Amino acid sequence: MCIVPEHTEEEYPTLRVTCLASGSSGNSILVEYNHRAILVDAGLSTRKLLALLGERGLRPGSLDGILLTHEHTDHTRGAEGAAVRMEAPLVGNPPTLDRVCLTGRAVQQVRFSTGEPVTLGSFEVSSVPVSHDAASPVGYLVDTGDMRVAVLTDLGSVTPELIEPVSSADLVVLEANHETRRLIEGPYPQHLKRRILSDRGHLSNRQSAELIGMVLRSRPQTFWLAHLSRTNNTKREARSGVLRYLAGEGVAPEVLITDRDRPSLVWEPPSDDVQLSLLGSMSR
Ligand SMILES: [Zn+2]
Ligand SMILES: [Zn+2]
Repeated sequence: MCIVPEHTEEEYPTLRVTCLASGSSGNSILVEYNHRAILVDAGLSTRKLLALLGERGLRPGSLDGILLTHEHTDHTRGAEGAAVRMEAPLVGNPPTLDRVCLTGRAVQQVRFSTGEPVTLGSFEVSSVPVSHDAASPVGYLVDTGDMRVAVLTDLGSVTPELIEPVSSADLVVLEANHETRRLIEGPYPQHLKRRILSDRGHLSNRQSAELIGMVLRSRPQTFWLAHLSRTNNTKREARSGVLRYLAGEGVAPEVLITDRDRPSLVWEPPSDDVQLSLLGSMSR
């Protein structure tokens, strides 16, 4: 069971980020700002997404966009249906949107070239190319003017384009898909292991830690490790592995782990410091 913090109108947070799900069975990150919202990816069923948005008071017309990182179904399963029902545009580059909008339903679209900034209501969104086995995959940096949130999953390797969003965001949702030893020794067929380990597959715990270690600054940042494999990773191993590596580098940032198939972490920045509401901890 998920408990959502209650707020009166006056104390409603200006920004709130919720992980609705993150993993191979569905990905969706909700970013709310002053009673408007965007979704990054819509990989749950339309029905499930609508229920989760409704529980959070979001009605048709209150989403400024549904951003798509790439066309894989764990990121797009409910995209068209949610766009229609929520009266929200699908936002993505043409290679991705052309692979998602296939049913002929009347879906609004906001198309951009990767790297071109897009304004969606109060949200300034920029995209960076990422290395993954999809048509034209991207990661996003969402800027509300107060805070920046980066969503970077499905990364086959650490590329230079990741440095700017990871270093400038207050909250970074970053893939830590697998523990390499578990993957290599585990039950996946060889072709799948090769795909995941390739430069266009998924990021390991160690790669994720190295990327965080490259960019850490003096200002507080929160990292959510996301898109964990059910078979090839554990929450404990991901978090302890990343923290151990970073301790060796002399840094200890806030590192938390998303749940795969249910709403888990919520991040709200209060006026003076970053505050965390850790819903998922109840289930650990
Ligand atoms: Zn993917
Ligand atoms: Zn994925």
